[in-house]
Amino acid sequence: MAQTRVLMAVPRFSSGSFWNYGKTCDLLGAKYPAAPLGLITVAAMLPKDWDIRFIDGNTGDLTDADIAWADMVMTGGMLPQQFDTVTIMERVQKVGRPVVIGGPDATSSPDVYAAADFLVLGEAEGILDSFVAAWLAGERKGRFEAEKFQADVTTTPTPRFDLLNLKDYLHVGVQFSRGCPFTCEFCDIIELYGRKPRTKMNGQMLAELDAVLRLGYRGHVDFVDDNLVGNKKALKAFLPDLIAWQKRNGYPFEFSTEASINLADDADLLEMMRQANFFALFVGIESPDPETLRQMQKKQNTRRSIPESIHKLYRAGMFVTAGFIVGFDNEKDGVGDGIVQLIEDSAIPVAMVGLLYALPNTQLTRRLEKEGRLHPTHDVDSGGVEADQCTAGLNFDTIRPRRDALVDFLEVVDRSYAPEAYFGRVR
Ligand code: SF4
Repeated sequence: MAQTRVLMAVPRFSSGSFWNYGKTCDLLGAKYPAAPLGLITVAAMLPKDWDIRFIDGNTGDLTDADIAWADMVMTGGMLPQQFDTVTIMERVQKVGRPVVIGGPDATSSPDVYAAADFLVLGEAEGILDSFVAAWLAGERKGRFEAEKFQADVTTTPTPRFDLLNLKDYLHVGVQFSRGCPFTCEFCDIIELYGRKPRTKMNGQMLAELDAVLRLGYRGHVDFVDDNLVGNKKALKAFLPDLIAWQKRNGYPFEFSTEASINLADDADLLEMMRQANFFALFVGIESPDPETLRQMQKKQNTRRSIPESIHKLYRAGMFVTAGFIVGFDNEKDGVGDGIVQLIEDSAIPVAMVGLLYALPNTQLTRRLEKEGRLHPTHDVDSGGVEADQCTAGLNFDTIRPRRDALVDFLEVVDRSYAPEAYFGRVR
């Protein structure tokens, strides 16, 4: 049998996505901020003799000739990539090739992709072998669904970083863990990856960094984990090896990641992260109001001074990008003032302020559905045509008048990014 030719097409992120900071890329000579990680991980799991062509739509163009070359096209991604994923699916089918769709958005909203020839849902480690066997047996349609939270990430191969043109990106992604122990009502991570974080082995992780290093890359590497400190014990067992690796290799990388705010309570962990050369953190703060935090089940952010916790992270040598959300049910008028004050008190350089979005496959969405408050197109991404990632929220009937929530949202954006406020807190 001739070897299978696979075209892997990374869908474009919607143009208005918060993460699509094109001007910064221009300044630094890159084409897109983040290198894709999902499809290069899948690529490493395919049979070795399959021929792979890899195109990232965020940095290059997918042509009909590429599609015609392939025996199958694999694509899929997150919700802000939904619009382009559907566009790719339609193009591929028009050229007469089968399209295989996977990734988190297809797992959460398979109906959006019902026309795909193959749906591969859930974590790839649990299901990709069945798909490959079916393909080799001649099947040209099917749906494969991994059992939830069962994928053994210690078996995940080193992603095919060699398929990327690393110069196109501001940072390269690696992943140590999947899952988070917390229960935030709006979060889809715990639905997709579970509440018991699963971690890779130390040697496996270092082999990934070795692979990136061998390709000549230096600089910013992002641990894409949704909460790197979800399993502190495993992280503490890994960091000494990471520190030693950095020393041995002359500190070729500086790291960023996302972490829950309880990281600030662990001085030992902070010191290890400092020694490993972590320089940037994303932390979800969401709201200044403890009652609102309790309602969204983000208890880890209550019973603490948020500014004090954030300043502890600064003292460990990391700057903090923080997420804030407007639109929760029991939010009170003037929440905007509270958020601006918190951004000032915590000296947050970059605040990602958004409107609450009921993501498919969350506790929040299920509750709103029961309450009859979800909008019919709540799980459809407009492709950035109507709104960007921050302004596209409130895809449900709000309790407070919608206008009031929007006024608070605009106030936070205007006041926290006014030049005197911004430069005042970052100087
Ligand atoms: S801490 Fe972050 S990843 Fe964990 S449940 Fe909350 S929002 Fe999700």
